[in-house]
Amino acid sequence: MTMPRTLALFISDLHLQPSHPHNAEAFHRFLAERAMGSQALYLLGDLFEYWAGDDDLDAPFHQSIIKALRAVSDAGVAVYWIAGNRDFLVGQAFAEAAGLTLLPEPHVTDIGGQRITLVHGDAECTADTRYMEFRAQVRNPAWQQQFLAMPLAQRKAIIAGLREGSREAQGAKSYEIMDVTPDAVSELFERTGSDIIVHGHTHRPALHQQGNRRRFVLPDWEVDAEPPRGGWISIDSKGAITRHGVNGEILS
Ligand code: MN
Repeated sequence: MTMPRTLALFISDLHLQPSHPHNAEAFHRFLAERAMGSQALYLLGDLFEYWAGDDDLDAPFHQSIIKALRAVSDAGVAVYWIAGNRDFLVGQAFAEAAGLTLLPEPHVTDIGGQRITLVHGDAECTADTRYMEFRAQVRNPAWQQQFLAMPLAQRKAIIAGLREGSREAQGAKSYEIMDVTPDAVSELFERTGSDIIVHGHTHRPALHQQGNRRRFVLPDWEVDAEPPRGGWISIDSKGAITRHGVNGEILS
């Protein structure tokens, strides 16, 4: 009898930023201790709190993350990236430096005999019409080209203003306050023909089961919170999908 192997790990919403060094340390530990033992690693969005463009690759904080991801891919782990609502400006230069593959969403893949749909989750929060309009704008290639043509410092100032404005407009809330809608989820199950969805974004970690359909929601990370938040999802060679807490403990 052979032990099941870990085929893939899913993680999202680390919101990495220099001002939260303990989250970055936790991510480094996750990469070294967990991702190295898997065949594949899927980053499902908002790895970074924000990303102003690939010309910001050289920032020391970004270099440390890139180096750690590179070590994982150099060890033979296939690393994949789905953009979040905060780091959708990550491009090919980042992907090459980190040794990972950028995926469009939804991404449908077969792992351990299971057909799985992967998304960040923001596109399914369709009740937030203001956000959906914003998303359509910033995901437009022409808009992105124009934005990326601005000097890096100006882009960072605009992003800081947007984050400030979003805080002011919604009190302490952010886009993550919204949840996915049942209609968008059903539509995604139908469109992809899969019975399993894994996503993040909403910061509402859970397993939602309806009939034979399962939707796994990843947690966001804040290891300095009380209690600390974080975790990931794994799938093994027998097709078993497991939710893990911030220290790797298995969640029911
Ligand atoms: Mn998000």
